[in-house]
Amino acid sequence: MAETIVNRRIIMASRPSGMPGPENFSLEEVEEPLQPPTGVRLKTLFFSLDPYMRGRMDEGPSYAQALSPGDVMEGGSVGEVIASADPAFSKGDIVLAYSGWQTHPVVKAKGLRKLDPSLAPVSTALGVLGMPGMTAYTGLLNIGHPKAGETLVVAAASGAVGSAVGQIGKIKGCRVVGIAGGAEKTRYVREELGFDVALDHRAPDFAEQLKAACPQGIDIYFENVGGRVWDLVFPLLNDFARVPVCGLISQYNGFAPRAPELPSVPELMEQVLVKRLRLQGFIVSDFSAQQNEFLHDMAGWISSGQVKYREDVVDGLEKAVPAFIGLLQGRNFGKLLVRP
Ligand code: NDP
Repeated sequence: MAETIVNRRIIMASRPSGMPGPENFSLEEVEEPLQPPTGVRLKTLFFSLDPYMRGRMDEGPSYAQALSPGDVMEGGSVGEVIASADPAFSKGDIVLAYSGWQTHPVVKAKGLRKLDPSLAPVSTALGVLGMPGMTAYTGLLNIGHPKAGETLVVAAASGAVGSAVGQIGKIKGCRVVGIAGGAEKTRYVREELGFDVALDHRAPDFAEQLKAACPQGIDIYFENVGGRVWDLVFPLLNDFARVPVCGLISQYNGFAPRAPELPSVPELMEQVLVKRLRLQGFIVSDFSAQQNEFLHDMAGWISSGQVKYREDVVDGLEKAVPAFIGLLQGRNFGKLLVRP
């Protein structure tokens, strides 16, 4: 009888309304032949948890197709080939895949990228040398256009994207102000990543601190969170400021009611005109042609010590659910990965 293997996977059991809870997920186990008829079977070494996965759980038009109840939770992964029906891949190869929250998936060979573990820890292909690092690089350079001496403010500054944005900003000669949640994260951003200033968005006097930290105003705001932070940043934007709109994590589980004293959309638009602001949303895949350039520059900055990174690794497939919910509440500290 053919050898079999048990693949354990987490599926979306139901669509969440607001913050997801454990009831929106379930764990399945399926026993299958180890050898796939086509493609390759992987043993997942790491899979990535990212804020965009919250968006995939909602119905409705977006830049990517929504999950349906019963689908495996999606996402990037790094796996070792344990059986292959494709001549391009052999047992023992380490590959970057998009196989989601499961332990032993079968994946199509097309779209897999072989990783060389001697060049960098393979987990970095999901973080600083992967999609989040590329998001930081392409969003900041193509839309932010950083220039020496300018003030760059970045939110979610200790995370996978924000930490890279701020460090690239320093390389380009900007004065960098990071915004993060809590004393431990702000200390890390300032002392270990070398940002000029780091502010805690939960501090009661955050609004005053932000103003004081940007005496020359803000030339680039790299938007990762939206909500209250955006409301406080907006009046500080300088003429000709650039705003790469990368993410709005504070809004992914719904909107807080807008305080009546805040400017209305027509008032915001007036400021966009008067100050000649440039706001541009983007998805990292818009810049996929720049992948080689990104890998070359980022690998160089990591080896020269100009870019540092931090990973938050959670062990055990079943821990993925609380870790993902924690990501949406700021409980991760660095690029969040699961070692299932
Ligand atoms: P992070 O590792 O930064 O984790 C998310 C962080 O967001 C949390 O740790 C928390 O940090 C912060 N956060 C959560 N809730 C709130 C809130 N209500 N208010 C303020 N901050 C909050 O994630 P990533 O680096 O992977 O992603 C950062 C952003 O970039 C996200 O918005 C994501 O959707 C976006 N993104 C966009 C891409 C694109 O192609 N446009 C691609 C990849 C990411 P803290 O504790 O410091 O508040």
